[in-house]
Amino acid sequence: MTPTYEDFVSNADAVCAEIATACRLARRDPGEVELLAVTKNHEAWAPTYAARYGLAGVGENRVQEAIDKQPQVTAKLRWELIGHLQSNKAKIAATHFDRVQSVDSTKLLTRLDRAAAEIERPLAVLLQINAGHDPAKFGVDLADAPALLGHALGCVHLRVDGLMTIAPLSDDPAVAKRTFANLRELRDQLAAEFSTPLTELSMGMSGDLALAIAAGSTQVRVGTALFGKREI
Ligand SMILES: *Cc1c(COP(=O)(O)O)cnc(C)c1O
Repeated sequence: MTPTYEDFVSNADAVCAEIATACRLARRDPGEVELLAVTKNHEAWAPTYAARYGLAGVGENRVQEAIDKQPQVTAKLRWELIGHLQSNKAKIAATHFDRVQSVDSTKLLTRLDRAAAEIERPLAVLLQINAGHDPAKFGVDLADAPALLGHALGCVHLRVDGLMTIAPLSDDPAVAKRTFANLRELRDQLAAEFSTPLTELSMGMSGDLALAIAAGSTQVRVGTALFGKREI
């Protein structure tokens, strides 16, 4: 059943309060951490509520699902692709998203760069890093990140904003903590080595956002805590 907007507001207020608390504990300004509403598996009401609440962006996992929703959402939003992208869908992704967070191969970079050139619109990207060494996750290994970034910086139609990771599923918070620390350290190393800021650190979800903020996250991607459990 579709929740009411009032239900959504109470969820969103709670998530914002959790972000504010985590920022206070980490002595960070809450303005440095964006809440990205993850609207996958929810119909157009979800991005519409997010926009009405004042959130600037939504995250979607699948290209086709986002394309189906977009015409039903009149509010202005930034659409970000957070799910795995096959390189044969690069053009359609570049056309329908403002940023692709799941870039994990040189082949995909090359395809996205070419697509952005064709549609004459620069595309923002994040590099997805498997910072938790999780065999079940996409993303390049930490050791392969410098080569991927080197390639990305050569793609003139792409703008590399930073890095993204997903922590392994685990009951032990130390696992997420280590994953986020790995991403933060990698970012600091790469930024120095390549003299590029890589300001965006997209990390943290409903269950681990406070840990991510403590480690330097600039964007938490939250679905369940905002919209409830997904039915599919
Ligand atoms: C689904 C998803 C999220 C949101 O997860 P929740 O636990 O529902 O907050 C965040 N990031 C990615 C990449 C996802 O696929």
